[in-house]
Amino acid sequence: MIIDDQSYDVIIVGTGAGGGTLAQKLAPTGKKILILERGDFMPLAEQNRSNVDIFKRERYHAPEQWYDRAGEPFSPQTNYAVGGNTKIYGAVLQRFRERDFEAVQHQSGVSPEWCLKYADFEPYYTEAEALYNVHGQPTSDPTEPPHSAEYPFAPVVQEAQIEGIVGAIAQQGLHPSPLPLGLTHQDDDFTNDAEVSGITPALTHANVTLKTKAKVLRLHTNPSGLAVKGVEAEIAGESFLFLADIVVLACGAINSAALLLRSVSEAHPNGLANRSGLVGRNLMKSLITVVVQLSTKPNSGTFQKSVSVNDFYWGDKDFPYPMGHIQNSGGLLSDVIFAEAPPMFSVLAKFMPGFGLRQLATHSIGWWAQTEDLPNHKNQVRLENGKVIVNYTANNREAHDRLIYRWTEVLKSVEKNLVSFQKGVIHPKGESPLQVLANQCGTCRFGIDPDASVLDPNCRAHDVENLYVVDSSFFPSNAGVSPALTIMANALRVGEHLMGL
Ligand SMILES: Cc1cc2nc3c(=O)[nH]c(=O)nc-3n(C[C@H](O)[C@H](O)[C@H](O)COP(=O)(O)OP(=O)(O)OC[C@H]3O[C@@H](n4cnc5c(N)ncnc54)[C@H](O)[C@@H]3O)c2cc1C
Repeated sequence: MIIDDQSYDVIIVGTGAGGGTLAQKLAPTGKKILILERGDFMPLAEQNRSNVDIFKRERYHAPEQWYDRAGEPFSPQTNYAVGGNTKIYGAVLQRFRERDFEAVQHQSGVSPEWCLKYADFEPYYTEAEALYNVHGQPTSDPTEPPHSAEYPFAPVVQEAQIEGIVGAIAQQGLHPSPLPLGLTHQDDDFTNDAEVSGITPALTHANVTLKTKAKVLRLHTNPSGLAVKGVEAEIAGESFLFLADIVVLACGAINSAALLLRSVSEAHPNGLANRSGLVGRNLMKSLITVVVQLSTKPNSGTFQKSVSVNDFYWGDKDFPYPMGHIQNSGGLLSDVIFAEAPPMFSVLAKFMPGFGLRQLATHSIGWWAQTEDLPNHKNQVRLENGKVIVNYTANNREAHDRLIYRWTEVLKSVEKNLVSFQKGVIHPKGESPLQVLANQCGTCRFGIDPDASVLDPNCRAHDVENLYVVDSSFFPSNAGVSPALTIMANALRVGEHLMGL
């Protein structure tokens, strides 16, 4: 192994929502920072966030295999590049709701309380919204938490047909609201990601070094096991050891857990920072389904997603448990229909005889339904003979089914020209399959009690004095809205703590 001759103040592993945001925060401090990223810069031509590429053609599945609980291999939908999964994300940047930080009774169990509350995160949400140029508007959405500042930019303009639906829904007493989106403000079509807002500004500081195609293999501690001394990484087929005072993992919830589990030693026989036995446990990934609305009225087929509906977030009149969040999918469907043809064509053509593919595309509107899944000890990332096993069974499914059903009812009531609905066009069985891990979280939960959590409230490992984790691993519970803004806000919060060390 080649021992690097430099010694760093901080090593950050991973450049996604957590790592990229933290790098930007720490860069101006003058601390000597090394960033290790297993991927490379994504060429601009590759930065195509078309959902058809992501979901249908499996373009952004990692070039490696993980295994399900039956030992069947799968290729995970995760992006190894500078910017991580934010290079391919939808850039919907929502705050968790105040009650998401509290214990909440769901139909199939309790979503646990966080050790910090919404008020602790609020200033960092505001900072993250400024950093990622979020386009939004304070809303009438009754679940929206208080904001200490306006969004930096106005929301995107609604497609005419969507505007009509929004108006009709509002007349029913629902609260459709602008969907907050992180976009470059020069061009409202381009999403802002952790390379643009995190790594690029960090690299303008001479004290920051980025090594790409540097895959971290394991962490090495001092003999007592109380501190990480070295970070072992493979670069161009060679093994290097990098030394730092502080090591921060931001590899994503599955890879950070796998890295800790791989870093066994005499002092940490069950994996690093795993005295609680919770590293890799409580994996969550959200229940996500797309509902497709077919209408006789045309739309442009190429519009931005723009609407959020949270009226069923905490339940409904006959179901007093959280159901989740709805957002429209933008112009996704034209691509999906083309990619799915001819099978999709035959299904859709049944409802609209005489229509060509393009017409079908421009007569379809997609709606994402997203429901919180609950932490379960058995939903676990573990290693078996070096292989990554992802053992996950979805829970809280009735709440999700009810959300889909209820949303379909709402659409039927407002759209006179409605032809039909298809559930789960992208995932024909209705529910996202195991390899769709977009919202993975929870594998190193934070908390006060070292027996019941992996990280302390500053996201420092309880068992290791200089080891931090700032990706989505730290979530004790998921939420109905998407995770990225909370990961970014938390990275800024932890960054502030690290600045003081
Ligand atoms: C298609 C898609 C759409 C999405 N849309 C949205 C959305 O609209 N809104 C939202 O809130 N969320 C969305 N998400 C989820 C969001 O992208 C993730 O929650 C977020 O990026 C996770 O941040 P992270 O820092 O935990 O990990 P990541 O962003 O996954 O970053 C992890 C980084 O670590 C690197 N890495 C991993 N292992 C190693 C290693 N061993 N050595 C070195 N580097 C390593 C990876 O290459 C990567 O750069 C979406 C995700 C996908 C896939």
